[in-house]
Amino acid sequence: MAAVSYVGPDFEPPRPPRHPLRAPLTVAVAALVPGALVGWLVWQAVGDDDREGSAAQTSASASGSASPGAPEDGEERPDGGAGRAGGEEPRTSPPASASRPAASGPLRGKVVVVDPGHNPGNFRHPSDISRTVDIGTNRKECDTTGTSTNDGYTEAEFTLDVSRRLRTILEKEGATVKFTQDGDRPWGPCVDERAEIGNEAEADAVVSVHADGSAAGNRGFHVILPGPVHSGAADTRPVVDSSRALGERIAGGFLRVTGSPPSNYIGGGTGIDVRKDLGGLNLSTVPKVFIECGNMRDSKDSAQLTSGAWRQKAAQGISEGIVSFLRG
Ligand code: ZN
Repeated sequence: MAAVSYVGPDFEPPRPPRHPLRAPLTVAVAALVPGALVGWLVWQAVGDDDREGSAAQTSASASGSASPGAPEDGEERPDGGAGRAGGEEPRTSPPASASRPAASGPLRGKVVVVDPGHNPGNFRHPSDISRTVDIGTNRKECDTTGTSTNDGYTEAEFTLDVSRRLRTILEKEGATVKFTQDGDRPWGPCVDERAEIGNEAEADAVVSVHADGSAAGNRGFHVILPGPVHSGAADTRPVVDSSRALGERIAGGFLRVTGSPPSNYIGGGTGIDVRKDLGGLNLSTVPKVFIECGNMRDSKDSAQLTSGAWRQKAAQGISEGIVSFLRG
């Protein structure tokens, strides 16, 4: 009942699976994990939850990693508003947004910006986050609180945890990783600033990590791509294609490593959605996607989202998608 500013979903109408990730996914999967591909194809054909966890894990550690996702740059669904404001004090953490020295590795020289959705402190700063900012197409709230599980595990905690796991993996691959926030600021940043951080870093890839707050029974992950927008300060046209490539790789890696099926309520089973109403995407001048890792309001999904072991897989899956994208 935090009810701090939830912006309506404004989802685009469900569209037919255009080019479902099928083809691109197959390529990505084939390139990275032949063993898992078999499992994935079986899963595709049979529709059951065939998971190749161990194979994926093994290959994951060999090749790279990362994870997460859900709506908005802050804009959560209405029913996701029940998050408890209570809560967790910001944990002490290293100077967040700072980047660390790049190591050697396949991603040496690459810059990845990770955007942990929301902020654990947003609940305590309703007026700060509810002011509106210009997202090109219109004005939208600076940021939102995000959702939570029914037991009160907040999306903001989730996104930070997965993002930190993702950073660890990507840095091992040699990437320079920057955060938009690392629990090191009282609230925010606003969605326009989140986009600007990726732009200023001239990031090779940006991923915004979320979990959804939809109705129970709605399950699975989806990746949100920027639609073509050209209005005001927003011009996504130059990055629509590259963002799709990034998003499809991430969806493929996430599916393979977590074994979690694509959303059964958005994207027509492709695990991919396209939106033109998210400031964090509209204002990006570099390849950027969101990932909604699962639905915090569904008991089965939340059992996964609250598991550290599962979050590690989520991070690993996202990282593998990023590595695949960046290595071409
Ligand atoms: Zn979110």
